[in-house]
Amino acid sequence: MPMRLLLVEDNPSLASGLSLALSNKGFSVNHVSRGQQALAAVENDRPDLVILDLGLPDMDGFDVLRKIRQGESELPVLILTARDAIEHRVTGLDLGADDYLCKPFEIEELEARLRVLERRLGTASTSKIESHNISLDTATLEVRQDGKQVDLSRREYTMLKSLLLNAGKVLTRDSLEDKLYSWGEEVASNAIEVHIHHLRKKLGAQLIKTVRGVGYTIEKP
Ligand code: CA
Repeated sequence: MPMRLLLVEDNPSLASGLSLALSNKGFSVNHVSRGQQALAAVENDRPDLVILDLGLPDMDGFDVLRKIRQGESELPVLILTARDAIEHRVTGLDLGADDYLCKPFEIEELEARLRVLERRLGTASTSKIESHNISLDTATLEVRQDGKQVDLSRREYTMLKSLLLNAGKVLTRDSLEDKLYSWGEEVASNAIEVHIHHLRKKLGAQLIKTVRGVGYTIEKP
């Protein structure tokens, strides 16, 4: 299941670059550019983690953090701040931010911090999922079948991971759509079937079973 990130960043090019890069890394990203939108999204969409820029057009990022902490004391928040603003880090950490990153930063650095927070959340208790003849590494996103590497798209990967983590249970088409697509994203009506078709081509027809009228499952090994 991809970690659901709320990205609060008002710089359009940075925001779209980050959204794309993080989506490619297997995160589900919801982007807003204002503090009020961020607070609404925290309340309504329940993200797993917030990436918060401090300089927002309508609100001070610290006020956003304060308000988040009033309602959601456990929600991890990673602050993005300008390079020279050391006092910002201190204030941010005092206010309950879980981590901070100075701009400009490398996407790999951000991803590494997110993985640490993800592990702390317990959503990634182990980095390797091994089941049937499949080995899936959630840190490197590498998938192997009988030791041989298999190239999957991001969504195929996410779908396989969800099915493996829920082995023995049936995942409905709706629940798979929720895992594969960001909030508000257009989804073609046959999108899930198409991904399943590709996964079967790459991994063999036997692994993923269709449960007619309900969804898909991978049996418990
Ligand atoms: Ca800004």
